[in-house]
This record gives sequence, C-alpha cells and structure tokens, in this order.
Amino acid sequence: VGDIELTALHDGWAPRNLEGFIRNAELADVRRAAEEAFLPTNTIENSFTPLLVRSGGKTIMIDTGNGDAGAPTTGTTRANLRAAGLDPARVDIIIISHFHGDHINGLRLRDGTAVYPNAEVMVPAGEWAFWMDEARMNQAPEAQRGGLQNARRIFGPMAKDVKQFEWNKEIAPGITAIDASGHSPGHTAFVIQSGGKSLTHVVDAINHPAFFVRHPDWSAVFDMEADKARATRRRLLDMAAAERTQLAFYHAPFPATGHVRRDGNGFEFVPAPWSPVL
Ligand SMILES: [Zn+2]
Repeated sequence: VGDIELTALHDGWAPRNLEGFIRNAELADVRRAAEEAFLPTNTIENSFTPLLVRSGGKTIMIDTGNGDAGAPTTGTTRANLRAAGLDPARVDIIIISHFHGDHINGLRLRDGTAVYPNAEVMVPAGEWAFWMDEARMNQAPEAQRGGLQNARRIFGPMAKDVKQFEWNKEIAPGITAIDASGHSPGHTAFVIQSGGKSLTHVVDAINHPAFFVRHPDWSAVFDMEADKARATRRRLLDMAAAERTQLAFYHAPFPATGHVRRDGNGFEFVPAPWSPVL
C-alpha cells in the first residue's frame, strides 16, 4: 500500500463445527453456503491472520494470534515472523483490534513470558473499558468470567504501559482506527493509507467470506451485539464495494485479502492471489 509494506502472518487454523456457528440461519442454509463455496459442509477450517505492517520506519503488528493457549494447530505466528526475517524482540508496536483470545493470547505465553518485550502495546479504549472493568468482573456470570479473566492474564502485568486509542485517529504511521463495534464493544477496524493507496483491515467485523460476505446479515455465535455487528458489516461491505477498496480479514483463508463486489442482496469475495513479489 504505497510506501507501506504488509505481510500476512499465518497463525494456523482450528476446526469449527458448522452446526451452531450461525445464530440466525438454518443449518441447511449454512451447509448450502459452504457447498457453494466448495468447502466442507460439517466443519470449517477457521484460520487466524495477524498482519505485519512496516510503515514510517516502524515494525507494527495488528493482533497476535493464539500464542500457546489455542488449539494445537494454532500459534504459529512467532515461527512465521522468523520465517519472514523478523525477531519478535524487534517489533516496535502491537495494535490490538479487540480482546478475544485468538487476537491477544499471542502477547504472552501461559508461563507469563512477554513474547514481544520491546513493543508498545496499543488497544481500543472501548475494549479496555469493557473487559478490564472491575465491577463487571465481580458481577459476571460464570459463562462470561473466562474472557474477562483472560484479558487480565494478558494485560494485567503491563497495564500501566498499555496505550489506549480512540477511533478516527491516526494511531501509528499511516494507520487510522475506525469504529467496527458489534462483534465486541470496542472492536476496531483499520484503514491503512499511503501514497494515495488504501486498504481496510476489517478484522472480525466480517468473519469467513464464504458465509459473511455472501450473507452479511448472518450472525456468528461470537458477535457480542448481533444487530450492531450486522450494521457494521453492511457499512464496511457497502463502502468497499462502492470504492473498490482492498480488504484484509483475520479469518479468511490465507493470505486473507481481496476485494468484494455486490451480488444480489449480498456480496461476492474476490480473493487476491498470494504474491511472493513486492
Ligand atoms: Zn477472531
């Protein structure tokens, strides 16, 4: 993107049962969507894609993957960073989109070790306010405690150094944070701009394209505020189709980037081929 170099990092994948994946669609319709995309109709391979950004002399990562806390087939970001010629100690800035485990667990190993010891960690103010709130933690029903406790495990030891950011601001060279809430209260997307070029990283506002680009009104089980998530998804897809903007995703098949065009009441995803050449 202009003078900015982007590298998609593969953090592995995990199987997810299609049954129960989408809250507001019949399983038969979900299976049909999988079939139309030539995907397996029982489980999908959900992949994870942190994005490395080299911009303004800084090495920046957006999200960190599952670390050593996810399925055994996940957590490959550190190895793939090294394969891309980069030591984790040389990452300058880590930008977090939201506090779900598959995005933050790569920050810290289960034994407490910080994986990126020299990085400044930046998080959405709205996420921090929600997940780190003491009253919410104390009143949380058992089912919600895990996520709140996990946010404390990751951020607690560095809490005083974490930098919170607001939407509609350039938070790092060429990277502007935008409101993409609904999936979680402070879920953030990023517009990456340089030299008149632009790419929007939608993160989890749009999960696997075969389901949520094709059927933008479907709600994944993990969308915390389903109606708001749907409105956000429509807004991002409308904008990307109208402006022919390249998108990056977190849960699309690697390297998780491409364009969308209108198709009936939904959209069609046109993946960008992986390119070994810059
Ligand atoms: Zn996610």
